[in-house]
Amino acid sequence: MGDRGRAALAVLTRDEGVRAAVTQELERRYGRDFPVVAAADPQDLRDALERRDLAVAVLFGGLGEADPDGLAVLREMRSGYRGALAVALARWGAWETTRPIFEALTLGQIDRWLTAPEENGDPEFHRAVTEFLSEWESREGGGFEAIRIIGDRWSARTQFLRDNFTRNRIPIGFYDAGTPEAEAMMVGLDLREPRLPVLVLRFRPERPVLQNPTDLEIAGAFGLLTAPDPDAVFDVVIVGAGPAGLGAAVYAASEGLSTLVVEPEAVGGQAGTSSLIRNYAGFPMGVSGNRLTFSAFQQAWAFGSTFLFVRAATALTTGDGLHRVALNDGSTVTGRTVVVATGASWRRLGVPPLEELVGRGVFYGAAVSEAPAMRGRHVFVVGGANSAGQAAVYLSRYADRVTLLVRRGTLTASMSDYLVRELEALPNVDVRFRVQVVDGRGSEFLESFTLRDLDTGAEEEQEGVLFALIGSEPRTDWLGGTLALDRGGSLVTGAALMGDDVAPAWPSGRAPALLEPSTPGVVAVGDVRAGSVKRVASAVGEGALAVTLVHAHLASPAVASR
Ligand SMILES: Cc1cc2nc3c(=O)[nH]c(=O)nc-3n(C[C@H](O)[C@H](O)[C@H](O)COP(=O)(O)OP(=O)(O)OC[C@H]3O[C@@H](n4cnc5c(N)ncnc54)[C@H](O)[C@@H]3O)c2cc1C
Repeated sequence: MGDRGRAALAVLTRDEGVRAAVTQELERRYGRDFPVVAAADPQDLRDALERRDLAVAVLFGGLGEADPDGLAVLREMRSGYRGALAVALARWGAWETTRPIFEALTLGQIDRWLTAPEENGDPEFHRAVTEFLSEWESREGGGFEAIRIIGDRWSARTQFLRDNFTRNRIPIGFYDAGTPEAEAMMVGLDLREPRLPVLVLRFRPERPVLQNPTDLEIAGAFGLLTAPDPDAVFDVVIVGAGPAGLGAAVYAASEGLSTLVVEPEAVGGQAGTSSLIRNYAGFPMGVSGNRLTFSAFQQAWAFGSTFLFVRAATALTTGDGLHRVALNDGSTVTGRTVVVATGASWRRLGVPPLEELVGRGVFYGAAVSEAPAMRGRHVFVVGGANSAGQAAVYLSRYADRVTLLVRRGTLTASMSDYLVRELEALPNVDVRFRVQVVDGRGSEFLESFTLRDLDTGAEEEQEGVLFALIGSEPRTDWLGGTLALDRGGSLVTGAALMGDDVAPAWPSGRAPALLEPSTPGVVAVGDVRAGSVKRVASAVGEGALAVTLVHAHLASPAVASR
C-alpha cells in the first residue's frame, strides 16, 4: 500500500542517539499505522515527507545541546503542517530545557513535551505517545465510525449532532450530502428521498438507520431510554453533568449514596468544549476539557452513579420532604436531595439574521468538531474574555486567519495575561478593538456580516465564519421561579438569601449554608450559582462540598425517618 495521504510520526533532532531511540520505539509500536520519518535537518524532513506525500500527526522536535534552537525549529515546522501536534523532546536530566519548554507551552508555540526514551519499551514514553495519537485522532476523525452521519455540513441540526457525539467521545464519520461518497451511501441504504440528517448506527448488529431523528429517538436507538423505576427514591438527583455535577456524582457515589445524574447534551458542560484547560491543579501541561470531564464521568459511573442522558429537567417540586424533578420525556425522578448543576450557556449575539444561520457559518462556543473545517478560511471570534482567546488560539491552528472582535478598547481587564501573550505571538491572529457585529446576510450559509466601529459609527462588510463567545447566561429557566434567583438569573445561595427582597424566602430557622438555595434539601453548585468563581476546579470543588450538605440533610431527623 502506498503512503499517499497517510499521516506520519515525524522526528526532527540533530542528536543521533535520541533520533535513533525515538525512531525505533515509534516504528516498533506504531509503524503499522503511522509511517515514521526522521531527519536531522528541517529541510531533509520536509523533503522526505513530500516525497512520500505524507501529512503529519505528531511532530517530535529535539531540544538540548544538539538542538539549542529546537523550539524555534519546531514552531516553524509546525506552521507547515496544520493539525499536527508539536511535541518537544527533552533528554532526561536536561533541566535547563524545562523553563523554555514551559514558556513555549504557555505561548501555544508547542502542544506538549516528553522525555526521550531511555530504555526499550519505556512505558512513560509510550503512555504519552498513545495520548498524543488519541488526541490527534479525535481532532481529525477518520478512524472507527460507531455512527455514520450523512447530512448537510452547514445544517444547524447536523452541526449539533456532530458536536454532541464528538463531545461524548462517540466516534463518528461525517459525510457531506451531495458528495459522490454520500450519494453512494444513500443508494447502498436504499434511501431515495432521505430526510437529512441520516444516522447509521454501525455499532449495533442490525445497523439501524434513522432519518432526521429527534434526540429522544436517538437515545431510544442507543438503548438509553430505560427510565428508572418511577417509585425509586434516590439519595441525590444531580441535574447537569458539567464539572460541578460530575464532581458531585463522583463524591456522592463513592460515599455510598444512590445517585442519579440527568444530562440532556454532552458530559462535561462548558468545560467539555475547551481544547486545553491549563489551570487545573495537577496537570502542568494542561488537559483537554473533554478528556478531563469524560474521565470524571467514567469515574462517577464506575462508583455506581446512574446517568440519564438526552433528558432535560423541566421543573422542580418539593413535597413530603422529597424533591421531584420533571423531565422532558414526561417522566419524573425523585430524590431525597437535589443538586442543581445546570451551569450556564452562551449569550447570544442578538442579531436576528445571524440567529437564522447558527451552525451554518455562525457558531456559539468553540465548536471543536468544526475547527478542522476552517482550513483556508478567515474566522472571526467575537469576545474579549478567556474563552474567546482560547477559541482564537485553537482555531488559528486550522484557519488561514483569525480576527478577534472585541467591544472594549483593551484585553487586559478581561483576558488572562498568558492568553494575551499567546495571541500576540501567533502570526495569523489579529485583534480589532471597539467593534460590534450588527447585521448579517446569507441563505444557505453566512455570506457576510456587518461590523460597526463603536467610536466612529462607520460600518463595513466582512466575509468569513463567526464564532461568538461573549459570556454566558445561567440555565435556570427550567426552575420556573421555584428557587430564588438574582437579577441575572443565577441561583441565590447562602447568606445572600437573608436579604429582604429575596423571593422565595429561606424558610428554615437555621442560617443557610454557602451552597444552599432557597429550598432546604436542594444544593446549587458551579456556574449556575450567583457569585460562583466560573472555574473548572471550583465547580468540581463545589460538587464535592455539596455532598457534605447532602449527607447532613439526609441525617436530619425529618429525612432520616423516611
Ligand atoms: C470554551 C471554554 C473554555 C474554558 N476554559 C476554562 C479554563 O481553562 N479553566 C477554567 O477553570 N475554566 C474554564 N472555563 C469555565 C468552566 O468550563 C466552567 O466554569 C465550568 O464548566 C462550570 O461548570 P458547571 O458544571 O457549573 O456548568 P456547565 O459546565 O455549564 O455544565 C452544566 C451542565 O448542565 C446541563 N444542563 C443545563 N440545563 C439542564 C437541564 N434543564 N437539565 C439537565 N441538565 C441541564 C448542561 O447541558 C451542562 O452539561 C471555560 C469555559 C468555556 C466555555
